[in-house]
Amino acid sequence: MRAYRLNHWQQPGFADVDEPAPAPGQVRVRVAGVGLCHSDLLFLEAAAGLLPYEVPFTLGHEIAGWVDVVGDGVAGPAAGTPVAVACMSPCWNCRWCRRGADNYCVENWRGRGFGRDGGLADYVVVGARELVPLGDLDPVAAAPLTDAGATSYHAVRRVQPKLHPDSTAVVIGVGGLGGFAVQWLRRLTPARVVAVEARPERADAARRLGAAEVVEAGEKLSKRLSEAVGADGADAVLDFVGIDATMRAALRVAAPTGSVAIVGQGFGSAEFRWGATAHDVDLFIPQGATIAELREVVDLAQGGRVEIDSELFGFDETPQAYQRLKAGTLDGRAVVTLP
Ligand code: NAD
Ligand code: ZN
Repeated sequence: MRAYRLNHWQQPGFADVDEPAPAPGQVRVRVAGVGLCHSDLLFLEAAAGLLPYEVPFTLGHEIAGWVDVVGDGVAGPAAGTPVAVACMSPCWNCRWCRRGADNYCVENWRGRGFGRDGGLADYVVVGARELVPLGDLDPVAAAPLTDAGATSYHAVRRVQPKLHPDSTAVVIGVGGLGGFAVQWLRRLTPARVVAVEARPERADAARRLGAAEVVEAGEKLSKRLSEAVGADGADAVLDFVGIDATMRAALRVAAPTGSVAIVGQGFGSAEFRWGATAHDVDLFIPQGATIAELREVVDLAQGGRVEIDSELFGFDETPQAYQRLKAGTLDGRAVVTLP
């Protein structure tokens, strides 16, 4: 079968590989669609020796499709069932897995599409417990739920207890992840949502998805965001960009007892100190989502109740789709469809 792989560091491209067979406990999934994530750009651009993976591997960690072949010892789901494929392959045995925090499994430093063969191919093999049946959702449309949808959901669930009817929540960067975050905040909390965006198209999307106000990225962001949020400050700030300027604004605008999540891998830094940061602010860098949370996301999306913005690309157009992601000109998640 054809696969889009990282053949050598900084050398992605199509390659012919063997069709994988499911080992006991695994399922082979026929891939329908693969969402491209900003974090893929880190894998595509990394120089040799920077990441702890061996090349080659097939890219793509945001996968949905249909059950194709079921391995020994797997009870279901039956062949033909549409399924979401969780991003991670937890061991189910480490201290994190045992306490239900499988997004922090000690094995999650690598996964499908980063160190192991991912979804940009006709087939991918998956542990049976890593599949979530999609119900009435189409697997091409649903692929972005597995990372963009689930990771943003995990972050929103963590800040949910802080959000009251008089709260403001801030979402910085309304791209793939942030577009879902605005929707989860509106669905699960009574907070007013203020968004920050750099591109007019995504600012419009933020308003359409439920943001009450959108602040333009740029000069003096901290000051302008503080004005938009108001004197009470924000009880939750989700930063999906994570550069110096957005982190600085996030910490400045956080209210006492508020939460600040740095989800974006912009590798920025900002001051967290007495006098500058409000008291009792929780600051965290979340990672992915549990498979139980992916189930909740798929449930919430049934019946078309979640807007999944995507731009579809044919498999041959994978390199162009990555270019558009890098250039920041996508209108929603890039989803590569398999023939
Ligand atoms: P994306 O490119 O789809 O979205 C980013 C959005 O931020 C775009 O709409 C862009 O216009 C906007 N933006 C850019 N610069 C801005 C600025 N200075 N101020 C305000 N908005 C700005 O990216 P994505 O796929 O949604 O990923 C977002 C981030 O989350 C990435 O850094 C990615 O690596 C990271 N990520 C983290 C996890 C995790 O588990 N923590 C998982 C997946 C992705
Ligand atoms: Zn584990």
